[in-house]
Amino acid sequence: MVSNPPGSLGGFARASAPGLRVDAIVLGAGIVGVSTALHLQARGRSVALIDRREPGEGTSFGNAGLIERSSVVPYAFPRRLATIARYALNRSAAMRYDPRHLAVIAPFLLQYWRHSSPRNLAVATRAMLPLVEASIAEHDAFIAAAGAGDLLRANGWIAAWRTPAQFAAAIREVEALRDHGLRTEILDARAFAAVEPAMAGGAVAGAIHWLDPKTVSDPAELTKRYARLFEARGGQVLRGDAASLEETADDWRVETAEGPLAARDAVVALGPQSGVLAGRFGIPMPLGIKRGYHRHYRLPDGVLLHHSVVDEAVGYVLAPMRTGLRLTTGIEFAAPDAPANTIQLERAERRARELIDLGAPLEATPWLGLRPCLPDMRPAIGPAPGRPGLWFNFGHAHHGLTVGPASGRLLAEMMTGETPFTDPAPYDAGRFGRRVRA
Ligand SMILES: Cc1cc2nc3c(=O)[nH]c(=O)nc-3n(C[C@H](O)[C@H](O)[C@H](O)COP(=O)(O)OP(=O)(O)OC[C@H]3O[C@@H](n4cnc5c(N)ncnc54)[C@H](O)[C@@H]3O)c2cc1C
Repeated sequence: MVSNPPGSLGGFARASAPGLRVDAIVLGAGIVGVSTALHLQARGRSVALIDRREPGEGTSFGNAGLIERSSVVPYAFPRRLATIARYALNRSAAMRYDPRHLAVIAPFLLQYWRHSSPRNLAVATRAMLPLVEASIAEHDAFIAAAGAGDLLRANGWIAAWRTPAQFAAAIREVEALRDHGLRTEILDARAFAAVEPAMAGGAVAGAIHWLDPKTVSDPAELTKRYARLFEARGGQVLRGDAASLEETADDWRVETAEGPLAARDAVVALGPQSGVLAGRFGIPMPLGIKRGYHRHYRLPDGVLLHHSVVDEAVGYVLAPMRTGLRLTTGIEFAAPDAPANTIQLERAERRARELIDLGAPLEATPWLGLRPCLPDMRPAIGPAPGRPGLWFNFGHAHHGLTVGPASGRLLAEMMTGETPFTDPAPYDAGRFGRRVRA
């Protein structure tokens, strides 16, 4: 991963004067923070975006690039015993756990399991739907303004299945989603081979082509272009440590490389690091971390993948990126700061080579990212309980790229007293005090 030398401001703008004051400080320049800053700015607020690194260098750096309009059901904890038993063996490419971390993550997993009951999952699905439905339009508007059209592909993504039984079950699931009006194309093995000749070797029994989503060929660069748009419109991007945030009698203050900065409002959009800051202000948030890896491969001459393809039963994504073909892994439960463990990526890579001639890896070591997850599968968007002027926008889990701009809009509408485009109640940060039945 790219990082600047300590003290360097890299591409950061400089504040005009020490002791700077703005209407709102946004802490965290990932896709969520940058989107929030843009939406606040569009509503007439002066905004400073604070990060300890350049924009887009956190989790937003290395995702699979899917703007997942078709993901209308959140990523739930498995409820089938056979799946749980398979994961418990800890040999899967889709999910791995560090046994030493299980005791730490157990309370999160228990809550996550409860929220994944059919009844609670239906609640979570309804809660996420307005953000997912708004995802493409919100990105399209930013992309047009940021001149980032070169990073966008509008040809959906493909879910590939290895066996006829898996394929048949997937078709039934698509039919169950018919009310959502999502556009799909069902591809049998021959049709799939025609769409993706590089995977025509026969390992795929059938595929579903989801046509509504869009994909991004460089998610980090997308976040940086959005940040540049924010700067071009007069916003300030400053280097600073969010841990220096302090509440005073009438405002919020943070130390930046350019000196102290004050504002009436402060937004916590620190992705996986948000829980620590919330805890410091007496607001415990059950933020769990699902780690995930990526590595790029240089496809041999003449081998080309036209779409992002998800090997569903195995559990990884192959996404054509500007850098090369990006393989992203599923979930790893391990301490956020534990060293990388490449076994899951190696498992996925082995299975991917059954589908496509991947060529050589481009990096010696894979990238490791941290998905910020709340156990009820929806983010916290709104006021921080009991802390006037402090706002939350984090916990976007598997779909932060997708719903970042829509979440930014919702929070900006709440902060500026506009009528929100959707009811913010499902994202209330105070909801974790309440008990949930499984
Ligand atoms: C392998 C993988 C694949 C994924 N694929 C997809 C996908 O295809 N589609 C999708 O929608 N989502 C995907 N996701 C999820 C998505 O990437 C995340 O939900 C999203 O990036 C979260 O954005 P964020 O802005 O909340 O966090 P981040 O991008 O992590 O931003 C937080 C920022 O806060 C900064 N920060 C942290 N602590 C401090 C501090 N103390 N002081 C100052 N700054 C600080 C960090 O430097 C960082 O820039 C994937 C995730 C992974 C790991």
